[in-house]
Amino acid sequence: MIKWERFFNFRGVVMALNPLVDSRDVRFVLFEMFDAERLTKFDKFKDFDKDTFEATIELAEQIAVEQVYPVNMEGDKIGCTFNPDTKEVKIPECYKEPMKTFSDAGFPGLAVEPEAGGTGMPLLLYNVSSEYFIAGCVSWFMYVQLSVGAMNLIKTFYKGADRDIILEKMMAGKWGGTMCLTEPDAGSDVGALKTKAIRQADGTFLIQGQKIFISSGDNDMYENIMHPVLARIEGDPRGTKGISIFLVPKYFIKPDGSPGEKNDVECAGIEHKMGIKGSATATLSFGDNGKCIGYPMGEERKGMSIMFHMMNEARLQCSLQGLAVSSTAYLHAVTYAKNRKQMPHVMQIQNPDAPSVAIIEHPDVKRMLLWMKAQVEAMRMTTQYTAMNIDLSDAADGEEAKEAKALVDFMIPICKAGNTDLAWQVTAEAIQVYGGYGYISEYPVEQFARDCKILSLYEGTNGIQSIDLITRKLLMNREQYFFRVFKKRIMETVENAKGVVDYKYISPLIRGIDKMDEVIDVLMKKLASGRLMQIFIVATPLRQAMVMLTHAWMHLWALTIATKKMHELVGKVTAEEREKFIHENVEAAYYSGRVLSGQFYIGSEFKNYFGKIESIMAEENAVIKSTDAIYTGAMAE
Ligand SMILES: Cc1cc2nc3c(=O)[nH]c(=O)nc-3n(C[C@H](O)[C@H](O)[C@H](O)COP(=O)(O)OP(=O)(O)OC[C@H]3O[C@@H](n4cnc5c(N)ncnc54)[C@H](O)[C@@H]3O)c2cc1C
Repeated sequence: MIKWERFFNFRGVVMALNPLVDSRDVRFVLFEMFDAERLTKFDKFKDFDKDTFEATIELAEQIAVEQVYPVNMEGDKIGCTFNPDTKEVKIPECYKEPMKTFSDAGFPGLAVEPEAGGTGMPLLLYNVSSEYFIAGCVSWFMYVQLSVGAMNLIKTFYKGADRDIILEKMMAGKWGGTMCLTEPDAGSDVGALKTKAIRQADGTFLIQGQKIFISSGDNDMYENIMHPVLARIEGDPRGTKGISIFLVPKYFIKPDGSPGEKNDVECAGIEHKMGIKGSATATLSFGDNGKCIGYPMGEERKGMSIMFHMMNEARLQCSLQGLAVSSTAYLHAVTYAKNRKQMPHVMQIQNPDAPSVAIIEHPDVKRMLLWMKAQVEAMRMTTQYTAMNIDLSDAADGEEAKEAKALVDFMIPICKAGNTDLAWQVTAEAIQVYGGYGYISEYPVEQFARDCKILSLYEGTNGIQSIDLITRKLLMNREQYFFRVFKKRIMETVENAKGVVDYKYISPLIRGIDKMDEVIDVLMKKLASGRLMQIFIVATPLRQAMVMLTHAWMHLWALTIATKKMHELVGKVTAEEREKFIHENVEAAYYSGRVLSGQFYIGSEFKNYFGKIESIMAEENAVIKSTDAIYTGAMAE
């Protein structure tokens, strides 16, 4: 087991380094940028204060570092196994003890209302805690994510008499859950699903069909599994309009709350995959013997809108996966770069006697690390800001709640696709920092890259996220209300930065918004004249540009605070004195790091935004002209 003290007393600072998440940065984002404490002024969160928030974060950090992180590599090596005789799945045994600690500490119900048996904390705190757990082990936390998602769905839409028993068991971490949408011919196109629901006289339904790629679909982590299943009631319309949702328990529930007879749902096998090997990805057969009972959840034919109800939180959890795996990849790369010695310093290149230095001294490695740091911070700010707005949209009222909701809807695809695309790039860069060792399985970073690739594929591929952003959230949103709220917030940040931050880091944001306005204007004209192909070919580039604009906004916000703090801490001194001070004072080192990553992002990385905009405006139609004949290769089947 990893000794906690090793990380906790770093140069006497209370919030110390761990290999997963920069806890100092978490506090900066939560309390210095977003003033999370103000949530406690609302009735909904009045029982909490900054101390309870702090205690929650510290506990999450402790469990993640001491119990979850140590099972990460082991779970990857062991993986999951399927027994075709019993049709049961075994997960890595080492996952079970951390799950007990996590559940006993009350984390599954942290953000669930007290009336439903939870603690009722803001979602923001659950999400901040999640960053630690996911960074500890992506696969392990997937069991939690699926269960908590299913639990929230049951809480809101399931009306059966056993609802409270189910919630209690799930909150205690004894029963798990899944989300059963995907079928062989229904991936992105959920409306094409074939699973049938046959109405019974007693109000239940017989479910018949097959679901594939179901995370946590079968496992021995839990005594019972609750499957929310999308299916079409016989006779209902084709497409998404005809979809309903049903609760299919693995075991029926006895009156005393214990699992009873097995329902007619079988695991037909599990996938062998590139990463998240400790997370069981199952094929499930419903009703092979004509006896699979499903209980309706919510109104019939409203299955898609019920799923959409959960979508924002589920997609934000996916964004957190991207953030968390990037965070730990970055921190591992930093530690490695501080310890690995290769070649003398570039300024000693002519000196044959010069000693080798740690690779963190080399300009190209410094650049890679600063790029990773700036990206991780941007993801953290964007994701937690969105979580905070979910809380505000629930707790506040009037205009404040309306604007918060608009921001959430607009920023969900930005977080989901932005973080998960970046995770692949950040983890790749971590391998690069490690050199050849990064490619070797004894070292941790190659697993991060393998584990994170799935994130851009599930919960709606990033292509689908881009289409959602550009159509529903932007061009087809009435008078672009979402975008107007988003712009208004950016301009508030710009105003706050004036007089504090050098104008060369402010003006790119103003120019960036002007450019985005121009793009939207052009696209609106295309929409009006029905040139849809020209809109859809730029969906992903436009979403990528929007991610950059969001990240530049967040960095400017942070830069304003960090610059002020540096003035307070260091004052007007010579460059040499400043350097010395930063070396001796960890707070100054932190704020200085924040200033530099902000300057790097806006002053260097954000230049690519304008290239992206130029490419969107270039109206290059080669993609539209490319018919399938020009793509050489096999014939279509
Ligand atoms: C490890 C793993 C875990 C999973 N867990 C779950 C789970 O728990 N529950 C569940 O229900 N599902 C789960 N899935 C399924 C996952 O959500 C789907 O794989 C995903 O939705 C994509 O569907 P598909 O694989 O059929 O790809 P397709 O839909 O065939 O897409 C292939 C490509 O075409 C693009 N594409 C498709 N349609 C369009 C369009 N209209 N416009 C532009 N581009 C388009 C996509 O963006 C993608 O790039 C999981 C998958 C994996 C691999």
